[in-house]
Amino acid sequence: MKRLVFATGNPNKVKEVSEMLDDSFEVVSLKDIGFKDELPETQATIQGNALQKARTLHQALGVDCFSEDTGLEVDALNGEPGVNSARYAGPSKSSEDNIDLLLEKLKDERNRTARFRTVVALILDGQEHLFEGIAEGEILLERQGEGGFGYDPVFLPKGASKTFAQMDSEEKNAISHRGKAIRKLISFLKNQIG
Ligand code: IMP
Repeated sequence: MKRLVFATGNPNKVKEVSEMLDDSFEVVSLKDIGFKDELPETQATIQGNALQKARTLHQALGVDCFSEDTGLEVDALNGEPGVNSARYAGPSKSSEDNIDLLLEKLKDERNRTARFRTVVALILDGQEHLFEGIAEGEILLERQGEGGFGYDPVFLPKGASKTFAQMDSEEKNAISHRGKAIRKLISFLKNQIG
């Protein structure tokens, strides 16, 4: 069994990813391995941040690892909040404040199309690999649903009749940005193992 460290401090992400894996891989979190340092996310792009987190961990511990970074890109806001999605309304990283700000900025806007973009960066045997997943959709006028996290209550995926926050994690994983990127990662890993 291959052991990979998932370079995230976000328990929601670890839960989503663990549910998608079979027993060919053991994925452990930073918490599981007692890694307490903050991983920097100071790059100008989602891809840059994903790579930065994986490289920081790899340089510190030399382990096989992957990280992911996600941003919400709203067309009427020229791709904002994008790489700034977590800190959109300020450094406290409050999802409630972020959603409030987003809805305020879009209040007179009819074009509400948006997408989540996830980039997964894997470092395996010292080699870097990138995997991307995109979920198209639109931003609702108000919150719907209690599940999920982040911007889920206001994101209606294209073709769906409910928001990510109204789906269980299996439904969300089947169509989500992170689900798509992680499935690409898993299929790559399976090919490596043979
Ligand atoms: P990061 O990838 O942890 O930096 O996340 C960036 C921002 O997007 C944070 O505000 C997250 O809460 C939000 N976010 C990340 N993934 C999702 C998701 O699957 N649904 C809704 N919001 C998300």
